[in-house]
Amino acid sequence: MILPKSNRLTPAQLAEVTGIVAEFGCTIQPIIGAMRTIYAIVGDERDDLMINRLEGLDYVERIDRIQSPFKLMDKRSDLASHRICLGGVTLGEELFVIAGPCTIDPKNPNYFYESAAAVKEAGAQMIRGGVWKPRTNPYAFQGDSRSLDILLEGSRRTGLPVDTEVMEESHIGLALEAGVTCLQVGARNALNYSLLRAIGRAVAGRPTAVLLKRSIHMGPVNEFISAAEYIAAFGNPNILLCPRGTAPGLDGYRNHPDESITPLLKEKTWAPVVVDPSHSVGKAAYVPASALAAVAYGADGLCLEAHVSPSHGIGDDPKQALTPRGLAETIRQARALWRLRRGLTAG
Ligand code: PEP
Ligand code: MN
Repeated sequence: MILPKSNRLTPAQLAEVTGIVAEFGCTIQPIIGAMRTIYAIVGDERDDLMINRLEGLDYVERIDRIQSPFKLMDKRSDLASHRICLGGVTLGEELFVIAGPCTIDPKNPNYFYESAAAVKEAGAQMIRGGVWKPRTNPYAFQGDSRSLDILLEGSRRTGLPVDTEVMEESHIGLALEAGVTCLQVGARNALNYSLLRAIGRAVAGRPTAVLLKRSIHMGPVNEFISAAEYIAAFGNPNILLCPRGTAPGLDGYRNHPDESITPLLKEKTWAPVVVDPSHSVGKAAYVPASALAAVAYGADGLCLEAHVSPSHGIGDDPKQALTPRGLAETIRQARALWRLRRGLTAG
């Protein structure tokens, strides 16, 4: 829909926009109002080049798109009936919880094994553990490929599937070969389109899922869903959208908590929303309330950092990991709220 700056386009302007959209196989239908005329673009209006050219005309106020830029992830797409099953749970039918340490310590694997057991005991359905880590400080521990064996051993010991972040293309094959069920795209790589494409290609035809974090910057929701479309375009729609807080952080918090975008995401896309309160608030003491807020907003799942002994953890764990007891209580309350909310929305 073209909204001109003036009340209507002059004949010369109308001829110009008609010529531009014709190059993209579209036509213009004026919608004549009492005061103002607007101009519908009839045809497939998803070509960004066409929109950019129209937006560049100095007599155009703005272009409103009616078609969604993400055709597969859109709530109106045929994929809306797609169900994602992980760790024995069908997303949307039960609160899905991923939990575990931020970072696996390759020198002390027992912390991970004990944490994995505690995560299972607390009722989570998937274990997380960072093998490769994006660190702001280039001299901080960057992860270690040897931790992949520890991650999978934790999976074998508990019988739970595992999630880990892949930061570069070489990690994808290693993680898939090792048997990782869920590839995590971190907030720093959430708009790395070549990585997203590589993941999409690699997971096509597999039961693998992708946990896609929201990018660190407070980007538009459409940008977040379009990032998921990059993966889905190759054929595997097992994608979980993960708001994790945005920068700049709210005073006193690690990031700006953004669990409140959940209802908006759910209006636009069918993809399950799995909120990460740990990176959002960044302090263990605030995580339980943030997790409940996410569930109240309609999240289908939670991704929580948890460690058997947070002070012995590396990476984020000393600051933001829940203890086994804190995790169990948070999951218990979150499930109770999830059921309560379900009753409310069903009624
Ligand atoms: C993590 O999950 O440990 C992590 C680094 O997350 P994010 O990409 O959201 O910062
Ligand atoms: Mn972390």
